[in-house]
Amino acid sequence: MRTTRQDNHETGICVSCFERLSEYIDNELGDSGCSEVREHLEQCVCCSACYKTLKKTIELAGCQEDAPVPENLSNRLKQILFLN
Ligand SMILES: [Zn+2]
Repeated sequence: MRTTRQDNHETGICVSCFERLSEYIDNELGDSGCSEVREHLEQCVCCSACYKTLKKTIELAGCQEDAPVPENLSNRLKQILFLN
């Protein structure tokens, strides 16, 4: 495995964005939280990819509205975030 040393300054922002994605999709964030996430999604290719994947997964799950994000998906998205 290759490790690259780079500035991970924004990783924290991405993680907190990721943690709020499911709430964002469910419209559970208030107006300010909602626009924060939306703004970040517009700027961050990585998080917007996570968002699309998560949204699609939830849509595919269909009737299971309250189904939690599958753990393997959650881990995969975190990997994408940390690879960035
Ligand atoms: Zn991000």
